[in-house]
Amino acid sequence: MSQPLRVLLIDDNRSDRTLIIRELQRVFLGLQVQEVIDAQAFEQAINVDTFDVVVTDYELGWSNGLEVLRTVKAHYPRCPVVMFTNTGTEEIAVEALKSGLDDYIIKEPGRYIRVPTAISLALERIETRQRAILLQIRLQGLLNQLKVGIFRSISNGILIEANRAFLELLGVSSLAQANEMYLIDTRECYRLLVNLEPPQRQEREVQIQRGDNTFFWALLTTTLNSVEGIRVVDGLLEDITQRKQAEAALEQLNNTLEARVIERTAQLEEANQDLEEFAYSVSHDLRAPLRTIQGFTQLLLEDKESFDLTKLEYIQRIAANAQKLDVLITELLSYSRLKQTEIELEPVNLSLLLTHVLTEMDFEMRQRQAEVSIEEPLPMVQANLIILIQVLTNLLANAVKFVPLEESSTSNVHPQVRIWAQLEGEQCRLWIEDNGIGIPLAQQQQIFRPFTRLHSEEEYPGTGIGLAIVRKGVERMGGAVGVESQPGQGSRFWIQLALSI
Ligand code: ADP
Repeated sequence: MSQPLRVLLIDDNRSDRTLIIRELQRVFLGLQVQEVIDAQAFEQAINVDTFDVVVTDYELGWSNGLEVLRTVKAHYPRCPVVMFTNTGTEEIAVEALKSGLDDYIIKEPGRYIRVPTAISLALERIETRQRAILLQIRLQGLLNQLKVGIFRSISNGILIEANRAFLELLGVSSLAQANEMYLIDTRECYRLLVNLEPPQRQEREVQIQRGDNTFFWALLTTTLNSVEGIRVVDGLLEDITQRKQAEAALEQLNNTLEARVIERTAQLEEANQDLEEFAYSVSHDLRAPLRTIQGFTQLLLEDKESFDLTKLEYIQRIAANAQKLDVLITELLSYSRLKQTEIELEPVNLSLLLTHVLTEMDFEMRQRQAEVSIEEPLPMVQANLIILIQVLTNLLANAVKFVPLEESSTSNVHPQVRIWAQLEGEQCRLWIEDNGIGIPLAQQQQIFRPFTRLHSEEEYPGTGIGLAIVRKGVERMGGAVGVESQPGQGSRFWIQLALSI
């Protein structure tokens, strides 16, 4: 103890006082004792508050211990009072304890030693009680500051405790009102928890009605506990209305977004379909007048003598252009058809198929002095024969077509094509590598779109539809296409198809 203890010692017997003081001095360093032997001294002591503890006899010439006790407690409720007497009865002791007496010691030889112990214990008790009170005040303060509602109810659903936030959340002014309105189904909470395995704890998102009949969303967390043998539901109540509203808004947004995407996709598909049908019918319808033009130019050309040279050249130009138009229309039609027809897949022997394609292209290959090497073995793939022939023909035609132009190259480069297969799981990647002019990275995706050409008609004739057919055809067979290339370093095109097992 930091401060010296101040004792108010009330006893008419001088030798008793001496004995008590001696015992106290043994225990309390720097002890200060105020001895009281009459009413006047007692009254003065009470008025000036100069003691921490009171030791009193019961039998006093001017009063009695019970009176002293009551007077002290009336003025200083927290001040410990110890009674040390040999005249008291059991009734007096009981009466005194009821009035707040802290200890009662029978005055007998050898018991003086108990007085300091009783005082120490009483002081400790008071300090402990005070600390508990402070803690409780602090806890209550914290609970009241929390935005989370806290409550405790018993098995019949009655709320026995709640913090301020709980009452505020429910919009009621007291616990009694909360019980009266029964805004939270605490009985249901109890029933649910009782049936759970330990730990009997539950978290639910619930909609709760406030005292003013409005609703809010809450996260209700409940636990079944036992307090002094009584089962209680301890609960936390958190307002999650804002989160719920945000979730709902997000969900609605997602739904409308999804609906809009579906609608837009359908519109686009329809527009695409219309466009494809339009392109197909236009190409188809162009054929007839073109045939007529070609037919009549042919007739004119058969009668060469009746024209002078200039007119003959005009007619030949018409014929050449009509021929180009014919190629374009044919390719456009096969591209359109690829999109429309049903496609059936069957096992195709790549080796045999390539031999067939190269035989068909024999004239072109010879003309270009191309060298084609196939690295066997090549596997069987799942493909549509007609489409795959067209795909490979287009790729091989490009591989031998896009070689450096003779006038710009110093040495005459002959096209060299290498073909091999790479197996990956159940897929086959067929590579077609050339030693041509290559393709810049930026254009490697675009060239698969219809009408994309990187060169003029004079440099490399073509329609720009060949690779579009390759891609569409392979995709319709469930595969994929791609290219790896660098300008001046040749190109490696690949198509990937499922292996036929
Ligand atoms: P086309 O061959 O009728 O021009 P494609 O669709 O087959 O049309 O090819 C599109 C473009 O891609 C070509 O114009 C060319 O610029 C480029 N290309 C295709 N294959 C090759 C290749 N093997 N090497 C270099 N460029 C190529």
